[in-house]
Amino acid sequence: MARVFNFSAGPAALPLPVLDQIKADLPEWLGTGMSVMELSHRSKEFIGVAEQAEADLRELMAIPDDYAVLFLQGGATQQFALLPANLAGPDQTVDYLVTGAWGKKAVKEAKALRATNVVADGGDSSYTDVPDPASWQCTPGAAYLHYTPNETIGGVEIHEPPAVSDAPLVADMSSTILSRPVDVSRFGVIYAGAQKNIGPAGLTIVIIRRDLLEREAQADLPRILSYAAHAEGGSMLNTPPTFAWYVAGLVFSWLKEQGGLVQMARTNQGKAERLYSAIDNSDFYANPVAVGYRSWMNVPFTLARPELDADFLAEAKAVGLTNLKGHRSVGGMRASIYNAVSDEAVDALLAFMKDFEAQRA
Ligand SMILES: *Cc1c(COP(=O)(O)O)cnc(C)c1O
Repeated sequence: MARVFNFSAGPAALPLPVLDQIKADLPEWLGTGMSVMELSHRSKEFIGVAEQAEADLRELMAIPDDYAVLFLQGGATQQFALLPANLAGPDQTVDYLVTGAWGKKAVKEAKALRATNVVADGGDSSYTDVPDPASWQCTPGAAYLHYTPNETIGGVEIHEPPAVSDAPLVADMSSTILSRPVDVSRFGVIYAGAQKNIGPAGLTIVIIRRDLLEREAQADLPRILSYAAHAEGGSMLNTPPTFAWYVAGLVFSWLKEQGGLVQMARTNQGKAERLYSAIDNSDFYANPVAVGYRSWMNVPFTLARPELDADFLAEAKAVGLTNLKGHRSVGGMRASIYNAVSDEAVDALLAFMKDFEAQRA
């Protein structure tokens, strides 16, 4: 079977050259006579690859030296719990901006450990808009302000880091990391599960300003839960997800070959604009998100006749366009157009949408 155009929200499409490289490397990797999966994480070959991956990520994102980069397990969801545990003392408040389903889950986990304050919640707009920053109720002296720059399910993206609080900004970038340049120095912590824009599931990247590694709460934590301990141990307190780390490194080299994040931003913005413009220029398709907050990565859309949803999905699949079903909480469709989803894939989707509308509207 031929490869399809995969619009999955995650685990998501990987670049074909990366898959080809994995295939070539698999049985006998770097002259070791074995695959990377079978090799010690403390071997010089693996350490070399791990260090190169970190160096390439630092270069791609221009991560300043006063930030540590951690390669962890547990997914973004585990970070929902580790953040309050590491960064806030028992009597401190943690602030959360909620603009969708993931932000909501993040607060829920934090609540189990610390006093939480929701500075604003986009629920009134069913998470299709972001409350005006002037209305956000931030806590003076909060341990941090957490937000979700890109809400993967609702397709709501905050395009600039907010500047409303003195507290360190903590960002769940799971579905937007590496899609464009960001000014890392604006953030206390950036974290992301790998399976959207980085590589295979099982790896989570945490970029943390080093002064935050000194926050007192960490001293009382078991080492395996402590950012400071992970940073000190080079993300190798225990066996890291070696295969996922190696693949992430291949993705970082691929991104460098594409021209880095400036070029990715151009491509991604172009893909998103073509899709939104087709949706806006049609009476058959609609996207509910406020124009200033539309995601470059996840584009939800509905059909004017929802009774055609199943036909749309089946016919799309028949022409090799897969995983377009919207999240069960939102319905309709969602096209996730991460870095590895090419211009060609988006063009094929646009052509299909046009045809479907012509025949069925
Ligand atoms: C996918 C996703 C998560 C959950 O990631 P896991 O790695 O499955 O824990 C969290 N936040 C956002 C924004 C996501 O897109």
